[in-house]
Amino acid sequence: MNRFTEQAALVTGGAQGIGRATALRLAREGAVVGILDRNGEQASQTAANVNTDATVLKAGGRAIPVSADVTDDGAVAAAVELFLADAGRIDILVNNAGITRDDLFFRLSRESWDSVLATNLTSMFVCSAAVQGHLVAQGSGRIVNLSSRSALGNRGQANYAAAKAGVQGFTATLAIELGRFGVTVNAVAPGFIATEMTGETARRIGKDPIEYQREVAARTPLGRVGTPDEVAAVIAFLASADASYVSGQTIYINGGAR
Ligand code: NDP
Repeated sequence: MNRFTEQAALVTGGAQGIGRATALRLAREGAVVGILDRNGEQASQTAANVNTDATVLKAGGRAIPVSADVTDDGAVAAAVELFLADAGRIDILVNNAGITRDDLFFRLSRESWDSVLATNLTSMFVCSAAVQGHLVAQGSGRIVNLSSRSALGNRGQANYAAAKAGVQGFTATLAIELGRFGVTVNAVAPGFIATEMTGETARRIGKDPIEYQREVAARTPLGRVGTPDEVAAVIAFLASADASYVSGQTIYINGGAR
């Protein structure tokens, strides 16, 4: 499948985890992909890996690293301009960058609340605002936002759950406003995906990451945790012409768990 030939996509937090898998998936289907991350060095490394991937080369895709913090309006605007100067267009924005700062509510600091809301929710305002004018002008586009199963509530994640629930409202509203310009806006809400983020969570609560994955797998109907590639596949679907009449939706990717 080469669903993204002659299309350009920007993936925030694309240096690792779900973002990296998404960038690779889109490039393997022909897209020019901007890997936007605050970790510029790792974004460059990921872009280099994408650019030497045999399937990407065959499909005519490629990656461009862009360094920016998604909470910084000026840096994001500059990064989008830099990307446009190279890719020549933008068709897809994947708002993926995110962090956790978990703690039980009685201990949750204002700093943890603010940083999680800024990185997981306000960033979507910042990045979507920087891109929407281009999508509206060309009369087509796709925005895919990362929510989470935690949007439904999760112990120790009042900040993260609030941000990820906010993502769903933001997604539904942008879909209503941008639909008339041919732009679809959807979200994915993964459950436990094996990445650096969930590894860090395990270490923080004093567990071995693999042991923690086994515990989560035991209470998941499919009997295992998810992979970044499995999330990337759903994001790619929502970003593609296959999802042309899907907008304002949040798709849970949680192995059957509630
Ligand atoms: P990772 O921590 O593995 O990767 C996130 C990437 O985003 C990192 O490269 C990180 O850089 C970057 N990033 C963080 N903050 C910023 C910022 N301010 N500006 C630019 N880049 C930034 O996370 P995952 O791949 O696991 O998660 C990706 C998304 O999916 C997140 O939104 C997360 O909330 C969501 N999600 C993940 C789930 C999971 O189980 N893994 C489940 C549900 C949702 P750095 O390394 O410097 O922090």
